[in-house]
Formats: sequence, C-alpha cells, structure tokens
Amino acid sequence: MTNSNKLFRWRDPYDTGGTQALFAAAMEENARFQAENCPDYGRILREQGGSAPGDPAALPPIPTLYFKRHALFSLPERRLLIKATSSGTSGAMSRMAFDAGSLLRGLCMVWRMTRYHHLLSPVPCHYLILGYEPHRGNDTAFSKTGYGFTFFAPALSRTYALVWRDGDYQLDLEGLRRRLLRCARGPFPIRTIGFPAYTWLLLSQMEKEGIRLQMPRGSKITMGGGWKQFEGQKVEKAELYRLAESVLGIAEADCVEFFGAVEHPILYTTCPYHHFHVPVYSRVVIRDVDTLEPVPNGTPGLVNLMTPMVRSVPILSVMTDDIGILHDADTCGCGIHSPWLEILGRVGARGLVTCAAGAAEFLKGGEGR
Ligand SMILES: [Zn+2]
Repeated sequence: MTNSNKLFRWRDPYDTGGTQALFAAAMEENARFQAENCPDYGRILREQGGSAPGDPAALPPIPTLYFKRHALFSLPERRLLIKATSSGTSGAMSRMAFDAGSLLRGLCMVWRMTRYHHLLSPVPCHYLILGYEPHRGNDTAFSKTGYGFTFFAPALSRTYALVWRDGDYQLDLEGLRRRLLRCARGPFPIRTIGFPAYTWLLLSQMEKEGIRLQMPRGSKITMGGGWKQFEGQKVEKAELYRLAESVLGIAEADCVEFFGAVEHPILYTTCPYHHFHVPVYSRVVIRDVDTLEPVPNGTPGLVNLMTPMVRSVPILSVMTDDIGILHDADTCGCGIHSPWLEILGRVGARGLVTCAAGAAEFLKGGEGR
C-alpha cells in the first residue's frame, strides 16, 4: 500500500502527532510522482532546489493563483474522472480534475471525518441547500460538494436557495421558508447546507417576521464556503448561533462549519468550540508575509496548505492568499490533540508579490480591511 493510502486510512483522523513520519513519506512520494509526470512541477522543484527528505514544508508552495492561470495535470485525461472549478469570485478559476485513487482517498477521509463529528446518520432528513441547484454547465466545486453533503444521511427532500429558472439562477428564500415551516410540523430532522451568509440572511429574515420554530431532534445547520460574503455586514458567528437557536430551535453544538478549497480538497470540520483542527490528511504552515519562512504557532501569516491526497494535479503544497494563524491544540479545550487553523481574511487577488505586500498591510492595519 502506498504511504498516501495508509495515511488516508488512519483510524484517528486527528492523530497528527502519530502520523508525522507517515505524512512526510506520503508527501515525498507525491512530490516524486509529480516531478516525473508534470513537467511544470518538475521544473519548479528543480528551480527551488528540490525536496528535503522528512520536511514537507521545504517543498515549494505553489500559489493558488498559479492554478487559476495554468491547468496542470499529472495524469492523462482518460484517467481523470471528476472535473471541478473553483468558484472564481474574481473571474479566474482553477481547473482541477481527480483520478480514481485520489477520489478514493477523499472518500476515506470524508467517511472518517463525518463519522468522527457525528454527521453520518441512518435517520432520513430534509436538506435545505443554501446554494446552487445542480445544473448542466455549473461545474463549480460548491454545487458538487453541496450535493455530496446530502448523502451523509438519507435525503427525503432537497430544497435549494438558488434555483435555475429561465436560464439563470434566482434566489428563492420563500421556497426555503415554506419548507422549514412544513418540516417543523413533521417527525424528520432537517439539515441546512450552505454559505454562512445565506444562512444568516434566511434566519434573520425569519426572526424579523416573528417566526419561532422547534425543528425535530437531530436537526443540524452545516455551513461551508467561508464568511467572505459577510464583509461589510459585520455579522459575528455568535449572532448566527443565537439566531439558529431562537428561530429554528437548533442548539449551537449542532451548528457545524466546513472548510476546504478546490486547490486543497481536504474536509476541515469544526469542533464543538467552532475551531478547525488540522486532520491527519493535511498540514498547515503559516509563513511570514515578507520572507515566506514558517512562523511559530500563534503568529499570523500566509496560509500554506499541504496534502498528499491528489495525484492528478500537483496541489501537494499550495499557498493561499489567506492570512491565518495556527493555534496550539491545547488553546482550544475540546480535547482534539491537533493544532487548529484560524483564517483571518483574504489578502485579495493581486498577484503573489503584491499579495505578500497586501498581507503586510493587512497585518499592520489589524482588523480594518
Ligand atoms: Zn477544538
């Protein structure tokens, strides 16, 4: 069995301490494969002086921006099963494609993570998807992952916030609200899936109308896609949890958030204290915005994400344009023994050089951006 496969079958998904050597070996294995099968990656690796055995952080992090401009594949097209593009808020999109082996590793990860976080359930439920209704021609990863999340528990129904009507997507909050009112009287739990911004929008509107519901036991609010749509609205997570409790009767502990990116398809899931602990499948390095050298835990910097999951694309070490902090495990208190990642914000898509400069600006300006 390859080291990567062994890593993705590891029993405890948060045993980052016990998988250090295995993770490094899996990264080396992946780097070797990429260098042999993706000429561009081979060149980048050579220019950067190659890899350092046992130290994945020494591999050159490829900026996510690079994938938005270059489609790099390390396997022939016939081996690529699922194609996805990032949501591309600025117009540029990363094109990714995954082979069977990578998808299988992804599936093992999803199984372990969802089981660990009690998201797998045999009890059927109604899904309210605060995202795009799947439609031919919409390849964004969100519409696929959003749909994928409706298989954690058997689906009785799927109601979408963004419905495809007359050749365009339209926001249909009314449809969601009708569904929620109906579900509150039924025996089956609900699960919402989607952007926190839409979740907040729906809940705050319902609250304004004086709606107070008690959703059936086992109902959950699950969120993904980040908080970036909140910019300018200054909505705190705490406010969203309060709304979930007051409008739907869903407790804060049943509000779960996911994090991941098309260039780093690892499923991060929040712990009971709403922190994203790093699972065995990945490692996070926070880098100084000027020197790009790794900084100690607790210090903000550019977020570099690493995983040996994917073979079809050289995304083993990617540099995001996010500013974040890696916190020591014991600063959380939930009992998970792996550090947790806090994303502070995005520096903007102005190129990596200006991106690093922007990061410095961001750090100087504190929270003002
Ligand atoms: Zn925690």
